[in-house]
Amino acid sequence: MIKKQDLRELVSYTGDKVVSLYLNTDLSRESKEKCKLVLREHLGKIDDEALSQDLNRIERFFGFEYDWQGRGVVLFSCQAQGFWRAYSLPVPVPDGAFVADRPHVKPLVYLADKFGSYGVVIVDRECVRMFHIRGGRVLGESEAIGEEIKRHKQGGWSQSRYQRWVDGQAAQNLKRAAEEVVQFLKSEDCQRVIIGGTEANLAQFQDMLPKHLQERIAGTFSVGRMTGIDDILERSWEIMQRVEREEEGKLVEEMITAARKGGLGATGLADTLYRLHEGRVRIMLVMEGLSAPGHVCSSCGYVSAEDVPKCLFCGGEDMRPVEDAVEYAVYTAVKTGVKVEAVEESQPLEEAGGIGAILRY
Ligand SMILES: [Zn+2]
Repeated sequence: MIKKQDLRELVSYTGDKVVSLYLNTDLSRESKEKCKLVLREHLGKIDDEALSQDLNRIERFFGFEYDWQGRGVVLFSCQAQGFWRAYSLPVPVPDGAFVADRPHVKPLVYLADKFGSYGVVIVDRECVRMFHIRGGRVLGESEAIGEEIKRHKQGGWSQSRYQRWVDGQAAQNLKRAAEEVVQFLKSEDCQRVIIGGTEANLAQFQDMLPKHLQERIAGTFSVGRMTGIDDILERSWEIMQRVEREEEGKLVEEMITAARKGGLGATGLADTLYRLHEGRVRIMLVMEGLSAPGHVCSSCGYVSAEDVPKCLFCGGEDMRPVEDAVEYAVYTAVKTGVKVEAVEESQPLEEAGGIGAILRY
């Protein structure tokens, strides 16, 4: 799956006639022949604009190099400068081919937001299993086993004394597990975590985690120790999706309220592009399907949603038409370190113009 540093590298690259290609390669749904047919169709649409060496490079990739294991492929090619990036993704991508002076990143940024990574911790009184998950795949995992606690009762121990010993041992194991989890999440750089276990263990375990980590718990689920990885992937994915949707809803509301009150919010494409160029955006929210034409200033890069004769920022008079100003907004956001939230469904965001921003100041 795509990493943040990959995106940052892609938006920092500029060239001449860079070809970007997105292709679904989900062989559980389509035959390889059908995928190749779609590929040729899309390459056909850009063959006036693109250089043949890039088209050939892409054909060669699908003919001889690609293992067809991913469900989607994203390629960027500018052979004239020796630039070539290929990503095989565990999720399908919307098909498309583009030629521009830089990589077309919008769909990839949306995927990266949707399939962000998270940690899952399965804990019980004896052991803890930890996973780093992204895009339905386990990127890293670890396990720590504590002291065995279901030992036979020692001679002469009363039932209550035995129970105290068991509970004490379990608490010690959970405490050690909490330390392991702190280390794991730190080394894997997981911002969000989901915790699974029995209800009693979950409550006790959460209390043992440091405060900063407690705040990063996206959810919990009840699960047995021997639960298989497929089940863990599915259930944690459901929780993450739910949490993401809730958070998006809150952000949309915050943005709209702030914009209405003249506070730290902006709505609509024109205002969002303006704030982005000013460098005032903290989070940009955008409907996944949104695209709109615009005009980009050749001297300062400002993108206007309207057809204006002069650049609002530098007064430059060379305003080039661009097919999709939203792509520019997403590109600028990634380039300037603004978080992009891709929203699949939201009536209020749609009514606010499909795009908006929460501002820094
Ligand atoms: Zn300008």
